[in-house]
Amino acid sequence: MALKIYDTFDARKKELVPVKDGKVGMYMCGMTVQDRPHVGHMLAFVCGDMIRRYLEYKGYEVTYVQNFTDVDDKIIARANAEGVDYTVIADRYTQEYFKYADLLNIKRATVHPRATEHIKDIVDLVETLVSKGLAYESGGDVYYEIAKFAPYGRLSKKKIDELQAGARVEVGEQKRNPMDFALWKAAKEGEPSWESPWGKGRPGWAIECSVMSTKYCGTTVDIHGGGEDLIFPHHENEIAQSEGATGQKFVNFWAHNGLLNLVGEKMSKSTGHFFAIEDIVREFDPDVIRFYLLSSHYRSPMEFSRERLAESRSAVQRMANTFRSVESYVGDDKPERSLDGLSGSDLEFWNRVTEKAALFSQAMDDDFNSAGGIASIFDIAKEVNLYLKAGEAPTKKLVLSSALDTIKQLANVLGILRGLGGEIIRTDDLPIEVRDLVDER
Ligand SMILES: [Zn+2]
Repeated sequence: MALKIYDTFDARKKELVPVKDGKVGMYMCGMTVQDRPHVGHMLAFVCGDMIRRYLEYKGYEVTYVQNFTDVDDKIIARANAEGVDYTVIADRYTQEYFKYADLLNIKRATVHPRATEHIKDIVDLVETLVSKGLAYESGGDVYYEIAKFAPYGRLSKKKIDELQAGARVEVGEQKRNPMDFALWKAAKEGEPSWESPWGKGRPGWAIECSVMSTKYCGTTVDIHGGGEDLIFPHHENEIAQSEGATGQKFVNFWAHNGLLNLVGEKMSKSTGHFFAIEDIVREFDPDVIRFYLLSSHYRSPMEFSRERLAESRSAVQRMANTFRSVESYVGDDKPERSLDGLSGSDLEFWNRVTEKAALFSQAMDDDFNSAGGIASIFDIAKEVNLYLKAGEAPTKKLVLSSALDTIKQLANVLGILRGLGGEIIRTDDLPIEVRDLVDER
């Protein structure tokens, strides 16, 4: 079955045809490592990880790249406030990211490049843009001149004159047009800086993503992910930089995830409604959190609340109960027979299981509809529960335990229900007295 992906740029679903046969290059905008990750960040990375896992399940060799922005205004401000080097801050929150990524079963990217490790490549790209007349130097800064790139605004569907009316110039900036954005910033007192043809300075925000995505995924990237709050200006600027320099299409599929809403407000670092993942894992098992984050289609906005998380916890517990029931019915005699010679009610049951499993792929092939995928996994569990109650049949133990294997396989594609594979212990499932013992220890 063909895999279709919604592309924000073309505003429609298109069949995935990778640049290189059998391989997919995917770039995910990573964290600016200035603070503890919040659940809004982790949603984007869980969605990206789910997409990557499904591509791998489909047999693609995926180069998955997720960067760390390890130098920026906020990192520097925090370092100055704490009286430490900016690298101390960046390293600390990079480690925090990995800690929670591991808990949420987010696989390590093929490469996790950092902006400061690519300064030379960044300077080279800025030089190319200057030499092509798309960028200009001004007081040690280098700006991209939007007016020189006609397709600007096409990703975000914004009109240049509307943008122009809303653009503001910050103190000290000398731009030809308020919309022009910084590719390179001149060094200020007390800031980390690197040598460049325009004097000492540091990169602007979007330039590193243009550099690192093409460096690791090729001139045209198959899939570029990130939260929809990055569409403008970040991704719009990436297109201007990359296509301005190469003259070739930068990204074939822009896959943007919807944002989390907390008390009706968009959760991003600027709203102040900061919901650290560190706090959430104290209350909810990471397995439940991941399940919840994938229980809606990645492009839909999500409501974030304890109630929604509690619903996901109940669903995960229901699945655990199904597993326990089958395991106690099957007992120790693990059936070794093949599924080839099934007949009667066993065959009918098994056909229903494979039918539901096919619906999983159908949902996932339709723009990674993980909500539909999860629904079909639970439909298999429903069949299992019904068949458990039905009368005896010759290979009932075999088909029931095979159905559990199917559930585990599909759950593994999404990276959910890890507890069923015995990887983690869900303390919230244990009887109170056992939980107390665990807590004591
Ligand atoms: Zn980015």
